[in-house]
Amino acid sequence: MLNALTVDVEEWFHVCGVPALDPACWENLPSRVDATTRLLLRLCEQTDSRATFFVVGWVAERWPQLVADIRAAGHQIGSHGHLHARAYDLGEAGFAEDLRASIAALEATGARPLCYRAPEWSINDRSLWALDAIARERLTVDASMAPVKIVGSVRYPRTPHVRTTAAGPVLEVPPLVADRFGQVLPIGWGWGLRSSAPAAVLRTIERANQAGAPAVLTVHPWEIDPDPPRVALPLRLRFAHYFRLSGFAGRLREILEGARFGPIDAAVASSHSLLPAS
Ligand SMILES: [Zn+2]
Repeated sequence: MLNALTVDVEEWFHVCGVPALDPACWENLPSRVDATTRLLLRLCEQTDSRATFFVVGWVAERWPQLVADIRAAGHQIGSHGHLHARAYDLGEAGFAEDLRASIAALEATGARPLCYRAPEWSINDRSLWALDAIARERLTVDASMAPVKIVGSVRYPRTPHVRTTAAGPVLEVPPLVADRFGQVLPIGWGWGLRSSAPAAVLRTIERANQAGAPAVLTVHPWEIDPDPPRVALPLRLRFAHYFRLSGFAGRLREILEGARFGPIDAAVASSHSLLPAS
């Protein structure tokens, strides 16, 4: 079965809710996104993997050739918002505006996004109206609802499912989780992915596939930066951004070599996991 590799194409300083990293400061910070995303493109090429690259609109405006090169390498382009803000911080009208700006920025590079991923998994019970805006913009896939506590909810389905909205259906494709010691571990992204042994991740992927569902992994270019810049972050964000970055590129290579990965829509199409509309 084909699994989904997803890449959130953002700068190392695109961290939500940190005043020192406000968009007004971004132009003054050293950009790393072009070089580090190209490292991921090379890794995909070497492991014969394809992916959905959710690109921040602000990045697409500054690095249009990068977006064109991602597409030329056979990957899919999605939106990761325009200014990398959380949906529930933007509010309903602000979210719709940010989404439209990101689509315009991607379209200016020649891409037409059909998929969306909210920064920090910020479509949850506080912001389900965001799915209406996604459907209104004729995007068909959302991958923003994490079945874990704090950022999402352990009650959310773990397999692709259709969500009905006021503007039509949206296919929701959640990221891979695992049950460990009575907790739900984000084994498909962030600190959960970076701190897991590749063999453990591959076993979890295989279990999902045996149950008929594709596994969805998420990585960021800054996670494989050989020389990552750091700033002082609050504890939770420090963990999410900096915990066990060391050696991650090598572990990711092992994972990509151990299973088949494609863009998110192709992975869903290859499975029989679709639940009825909720
Ligand atoms: Zn992000």
